[in-house]
Amino acid sequence: PPVTTARALLLIADTGGGHRACAEALREELEYGDRMTGIIVDPLTGPGVSPPVRWLFRRYGPLVRVAPALWALLFHATNHSLVRPVVEALITRAVRRPLADAIDRHRPEVVVVLHPLLVAPAARHRHGRVITVITDIGNPHRTWWHRSVDEYVTPRPGLPRHLMNQRGTREHVFGLPVRRQFVASSAVPDRSQLGLSPERFVVLINGGGEGVRGTGRWARALVRGKADVDVIVICGRNERLRGRLSRLEPRPGRQLLVTGFVDDIATWMRTADVLVAKAGPGIIAEAAALGLPLLLAGSLPGQEAGNSEAVVRGGAGIRVSSTRDLLARVTQLSARPDLLLALHLAALRSGRPTAGALTADLITNPKENP
Ligand code: UDP
Repeated sequence: PPVTTARALLLIADTGGGHRACAEALREELEYGDRMTGIIVDPLTGPGVSPPVRWLFRRYGPLVRVAPALWALLFHATNHSLVRPVVEALITRAVRRPLADAIDRHRPEVVVVLHPLLVAPAARHRHGRVITVITDIGNPHRTWWHRSVDEYVTPRPGLPRHLMNQRGTREHVFGLPVRRQFVASSAVPDRSQLGLSPERFVVLINGGGEGVRGTGRWARALVRGKADVDVIVICGRNERLRGRLSRLEPRPGRQLLVTGFVDDIATWMRTADVLVAKAGPGIIAEAAALGLPLLLAGSLPGQEAGNSEAVVRGGAGIRVSSTRDLLARVTQLSARPDLLLALHLAALRSGRPTAGALTADLITNPKENP
């Protein structure tokens, strides 16, 4: 058991997979060497939150899978400067009980916020220091920025001017924390244990924690297409997709592996030569930590706008615009080790595998403000 009693409350929502993955990365770093205990709490979809708000947040998965345009509408409407205070007030009220319960129960020294809509409630029900870790890259929602936050950890600079000029608020551009499975082990898994050929090119497909729309289309195109590749699909929490893809018949001699949500995704990523994914910030940071080349086949409207461009600019991935384009790129990469190596090196250069350790340092050691 940890020898220290100092605690950090890590606030997330189980929408997508990125917020929880980042919180787990921080918990691992905090508890490594028993520096602090990390407690992950989801006040938005868990018990105690007011029913309409919980209902809404529990529908995030189906919403981004079935109607991403409607999600885009919600994102942009709530991102307006006039609407923002209303949204913040509503959510602050809705999560008052679960947040107060968590604070009373754990008496944390630090509250770390990893979801934009929990920043205002954490600032309002302030207990100890408040640190916000931004889990978005391209287009963070404006509710991330709040004047009562002490420290910001961000994947790229973005602190608005009014906060920059305010005494006490600081921004640390550490990158997006990734779990230790992406940092600590470098062993390459044995493909034959998964029934995969050691020689054939392996394509891994993932549409985020929710298995967004498009994932099935990318998988079917590759499984039925001419490229001589083995395919692994990680469907996340999308059980329907998993069921449908499990019935696909690959061409003779080729392999298809389909799984639901996996906790050891780094092992699956180390097995693959290339990753086909939506431009989620979590998977982008993880692929970079491993040096795994990315083919970006889609992105969520709203917070993920601009993510693909950032990856392409860094040389760590290629954006594909259609399933035809996807097939052409996979065929090209499987025949061009030089191109694959260039992507691999650029991905490693853009990776920030120490982001978690640096953020844990900040959480455990309060720094004097200049
Ligand atoms: N993930 C995972 N297991 C799975 C599917 C996804 O651990 O089976 C993780 C993935 O490694 C990443 C996160 O879920 O850390 C997805 O985050 P991202 O920001 O890419 O997209 P989101 O799902 O939040 O939209």
